[in-house]
Amino acid sequence: MSRTTVTPIPVLGRHAVNAYLLTGRRPVLVDAGIPGSGEQIRRHLERLGVDPGDLAMIVITHGHIDHFGSAAELHRLTGAPIAAHAADLGPYRTGRVREPYLPTGPMGRLMSRGRRLHVRAEPFEPQVLLRGETPLDEFGIAARAVPTPGHTAGSVSVLTDHGDLVAGDLVANSFMGLIPGRPANPPFHDDPLGNLDSLDAMLARDPARLHVGHGTPLDPDRVRRWAARERTRLLRRAATGRLTTRADLPDGADAVAVDEAPADYSDLSRPGASDG
Ligand SMILES: [Zn+2]
Ligand SMILES: [Zn+2]
Repeated sequence: MSRTTVTPIPVLGRHAVNAYLLTGRRPVLVDAGIPGSGEQIRRHLERLGVDPGDLAMIVITHGHIDHFGSAAELHRLTGAPIAAHAADLGPYRTGRVREPYLPTGPMGRLMSRGRRLHVRAEPFEPQVLLRGETPLDEFGIAARAVPTPGHTAGSVSVLTDHGDLVAGDLVANSFMGLIPGRPANPPFHDDPLGNLDSLDAMLARDPARLHVGHGTPLDPDRVRRWAARERTRLLRRAATGRLTTRADLPDGADAVAVDEAPADYSDLSRPGASDG
């Protein structure tokens, strides 16, 4: 099969929130932006020369609103089946993320107070339910979907045969892309050490570059060095009881106070804001 290429589709800002077009024998979309961005993504596909009706599949990397927000709309607009992992079916079927968000640092604490991350997206039912590693050749790309749990239980990444890793929120750029090329945690992780295990497992497959949901492409060696430091930091936190995972939360922790704080993704999409 011909080489499968990866092209970012900006959803907010230049690269604060990204979806991706993978093009092989047929086009495949990875991720579906925030709620209400379906039409914008469809138009961008057309500008890239893709007839939206030709889309072979929409892969959703995980059950966060900025990745599955317009999945139902894009399914309607393109007719393409949606593939997503079974472990995040709850958010997909309800249109709501698992609450509360578990911040990885100050950025996440600030963002979790914004209303925009707590809205309900249009629910959907994946036509292709991912459970294990899944070749995507029959959908026209030389790539496979690989479960990479930790950020959420149902997180998946897409690895092409040529070493492009579309990694969702396995890792991000500092400040959602404000500092391009510098690896950092995304604002939230359900299980930080579990996520790091998944990241290391993908780095062990020697990807040529990482394409992430938030920011510009990342160099794998730079991510390796960051991941080693991050593991040391997380183990230190875990040793002193300061590392919370979703599994640690009591039942009923789903209720979360939403205040009117203006911090949300839209702040990052103001003109110039995403350029650092
Ligand atoms: Zn996420
Ligand atoms: Zn995200």
